[in-house]
Amino acid sequence: MREFKIAQPRSAEELAALLAETKEMTALMAGGTDLIDELKSGVAAPDLVVDLQTVAGLAGIGRDKEGLRIGAMTKVVELAGDAAVLQDYPSLKEAALSLATPQLRNVGTVGGNLCQRPRCWYYRDPQVVCRKKGGFNCYAFQGRNKYHGIFGGGSCFIVHPSDLAPALISLGAKVTVGSAKGDKVIPLEQFYILPDIDVLRENVLEKGQFLKSVWVPAPKPGQKAAYVKLKERGTWDFALVSAAVAGVVKDGIFAEIAVVMGGVAPVPWRLKKAEDVLRGKPANEAAVRLAADEALKDASPLRENGYKADLVFAALKEAVLTLAA
Ligand SMILES: Cc1cc2nc3c(=O)[nH]c(=O)nc-3n(C[C@H](O)[C@H](O)[C@H](O)COP(=O)(O)OP(=O)(O)OC[C@H]3O[C@@H](n4cnc5c(N)ncnc54)[C@H](O)[C@@H]3O)c2cc1C
Repeated sequence: MREFKIAQPRSAEELAALLAETKEMTALMAGGTDLIDELKSGVAAPDLVVDLQTVAGLAGIGRDKEGLRIGAMTKVVELAGDAAVLQDYPSLKEAALSLATPQLRNVGTVGGNLCQRPRCWYYRDPQVVCRKKGGFNCYAFQGRNKYHGIFGGGSCFIVHPSDLAPALISLGAKVTVGSAKGDKVIPLEQFYILPDIDVLRENVLEKGQFLKSVWVPAPKPGQKAAYVKLKERGTWDFALVSAAVAGVVKDGIFAEIAVVMGGVAPVPWRLKKAEDVLRGKPANEAAVRLAADEALKDASPLRENGYKADLVFAALKEAVLTLAA
């Protein structure tokens, strides 16, 4: 493992000042469950690792009548067991409990989960210099691509790995980005960027910036939400395809609906076309079939991952019909 220095700022202000001043190649470390793997394999080789565990005020969940604020350093296990989450945010609870293993949920944080790097085997192989690491080729495009994206690829076919992100986006979450210039609040949906904007990173964070907290609005009257994760194995696994759905069904008709898929694109993938089809329709399987067919017109499966189109329908059906139940 390459040597690096470690910094342990004590407050968000100290962290912001350090990130603004340092000229060294820097990596932020939350729980370290993803970053340390990258350091060991050499896929990440920073000069300076900034430990977020010493930063006061970044962890914890607070609730008021407007919604729920989740500090970036809140552990996934705390999110999954929070009383407000258990009572009012069933899809978030489901996503948190579906994620990794109990050991990883005990250590991994909400911010680390949202900012984790992709699992593409070409990206994770230290011998391979793919586009995501500054090379010229996406080896998945013509290589082994069973687990890769069917939407939004283009220059790189990674899939977004986080279970929390689709659930949070479907609930209308916003994130606070901290830096020495002050805090900035943006919708979580706009936090992620496609490879065609910048193939080297997966989100809008620039040098000097860090994720501070996530805010989830209070559920609307009558709102229901569901998260469905389809995996290859019965034990811990990343999603082949996941569907997060939130909305309001009135008299059996979808009045409002948000649909966000995981495991299908480089970013959590909003199925706006499916939402448009479902809105105003009865909550039944025929409507979901129409919605999935419309959304899948934008899909471009690779040689080995055409099966994901069927999983999009299956995940969407289970999630959407939960709302109608
Ligand atoms: C075996 C295994 C199975 C897994 N299965 C799943 C799964 O099914 N679903 C799923 O969603 N995840 C899964 N994961 C990923 C796991 O959830 C993440 O490793 C974890 O959530 C990352 O949290 P962390 O706090 O340890 O982050 P770290 O490893 O510390 O950081 C991860 C990345 O985020 C960046 N980062 C961390 N915090 C911040 C911040 N506040 N601001 C800016 N950047 C930040 C780091 O620089 C790093 O690049 C799995 C991981 C493993 C090892």
